Amino acid sequence: MCGIVGYVGPKQAYDYLIEGLFRLEYRGYDSAGVALQQAGQIDVRKKTGRVSQLAELVKVQPVTGNAGIGHTRWATHGEPSDANSHPHVGGNGEVVLVHNGVIENYALLRDKLTELGYVFRSATDTEVAAHLIAHQLEEETKLGSDPTLAETCIQAVEKAIKKIKGTYGLAILFRDVPGLLVAARLGSPLVVGIGKGEYYLASDASPLVGHTEEVVYLNDHEIAVITADQFQLRHQNGGSNAKHIKVLEQAAVDTDLGEFEHYMLKEIFEQPTSIENALRGRLDDDEATAVFGGLNMDPQKLRCIDRIVLTACGTSWHSALVGEYLIEEFARIPVEVEYASELRYRNPPMTDRTMVFAITQSGETADTLAAMRECKRKGHPTLAICNTVGSTIAREADGGIYLHAGPEIGVASTKAFTSQVTVLTLLALFMGRMRNLSYPAGKRIISHLREMPDKIRQTLKCYDAVKEVARKYYTAENFLYMGRLYNFPVALEGALKLKEISYIHAEGYPAAEMKHGPIALIDEDTPSVFIAPRCGIYPKVMSNLQEVKARRGPVIAIACEGDDKIADLADDVIYVPDVDEYLQPLVTSIPLQLLSYEIAILRGCNVDRPRNLAKSVTVE
Ligand code: GLU
Repeated sequence: MCGIVGYVGPKQAYDYLIEGLFRLEYRGYDSAGVALQQAGQIDVRKKTGRVSQLAELVKVQPVTGNAGIGHTRWATHGEPSDANSHPHVGGNGEVVLVHNGVIENYALLRDKLTELGYVFRSATDTEVAAHLIAHQLEEETKLGSDPTLAETCIQAVEKAIKKIKGTYGLAILFRDVPGLLVAARLGSPLVVGIGKGEYYLASDASPLVGHTEEVVYLNDHEIAVITADQFQLRHQNGGSNAKHIKVLEQAAVDTDLGEFEHYMLKEIFEQPTSIENALRGRLDDDEATAVFGGLNMDPQKLRCIDRIVLTACGTSWHSALVGEYLIEEFARIPVEVEYASELRYRNPPMTDRTMVFAITQSGETADTLAAMRECKRKGHPTLAICNTVGSTIAREADGGIYLHAGPEIGVASTKAFTSQVTVLTLLALFMGRMRNLSYPAGKRIISHLREMPDKIRQTLKCYDAVKEVARKYYTAENFLYMGRLYNFPVALEGALKLKEISYIHAEGYPAAEMKHGPIALIDEDTPSVFIAPRCGIYPKVMSNLQEVKARRGPVIAIACEGDDKIADLADDVIYVPDVDEYLQPLVTSIPLQLLSYEIAILRGCNVDRPRNLAKSVTVE
């Protein structure tokens, strides 16, 4: 979480910084701030609230300078307040920095620095890093052994960060070395954009669009030393590292809102295209299977895999649950779905035939990255299913599959979910065809997948019906979501969407589990959303639905077009096209996305900036 930007060059840094912060605001919006260096001083402007509020402040109190850093915060330590906003100042103003991550040993360091006379002005963990570097700088200066002040500053950073336990992306300015920007990374993403006589820094590539096409992603333990005419990459233990310059695909980071009012709605309506993109070039009609460019595993090894672990967080965890059903059904390989935050500290038995997939939209999710590293350490082939090209997880995985969904800015994930499910369907087909899935069965799956973009287009026509349902129920304080088999994870995802953006309490359950507890919650004011398209156990789902009606609970059904019977039972029905059971999550999740969007709007919530959340969870 948190967005970081930086600039060194001939232009006014503020212009890039503020534009970049607007683009990174989805990463955190508790506060925003900038620091600009000019004429032997560093000026800081920072403010609680949105980037637009910072921009207003700067209109009244302008700042200038050709080197600068900026930050948009998602608070981990210390409430959102002006004092806790970044940038933070170290020592007597000789160091100014912004930080993304968590300093776990901050309390200890804070005590030590306080004893040494450093005065803390915020409740953040970050301020510790500012004073620590300032202190180290003082120590280095006393030694007086280095040729230039710039070099002394860099060494101070190198030494200080070794004392930090936790994660950081840091961008640092030094009052007495004009035009020097130092960036350091451990666990939190940073990318340097290479311009002509200028350099840019950002947490992800989106602020760089329109400024440069050449980028260098920092790896953990790397330090970038940047001036207007030079950019060096060093290892924190000394020595320079080679710079791997990548070309930025501008289209992949286009973040225009277009005709839509919110990113979430725009992304919901992009799903016919995002699913098409997830399928593009991956359907092999001749062999009746899927093809992937980047798995980096030879077929013989893949055939030996006897267990798959899917690890993820949040919405990606829900898509992993669909993946479990798909892979077990088509490939007959036992699958386990693990919360990454648990897996990273657990030690489940895994054999050398266990393959791990880390599923993440951003490719930066801290827990997923840690779980992936843990599995790699133990020697398992570890692959990524990820949307963001060049992200840390994409780079560190042994191989993987990109979603190609385009940037997802809405904090509540929508198109990434359906793209993940699409890719997992392809994976199930691919693994299945290596085992016992027949040629005709493979052909059938391919032809069904090809129809999906059109089916999604048809599904989106339910928007008007969804609006009506939303108007009827938006004041409810509790919702239940129920589905079975492939639609059980959809129930979980529907409930999560509602919680995230409308702050209504919602729970997702396998419909038959209801009688083991949640049925106690049913009353006239608690709507139940039944995800009930035609399936092998449709009559069973209907019985569950009747059980709710018998207790006077209002029922909203998501059903297949042409299912008139359900209209007699449910209070409201939203129809979706009829597709094979294993593809139903792709269509049934869409009315639920729209429902939470509409309810949130009616309740006056900010759907793209829900409270307490941020898009990519880069802290543990
Ligand atoms: N820990 C820092 C703070 O609370 C940075 C938070 C983050 O990176 O999300 O200000």
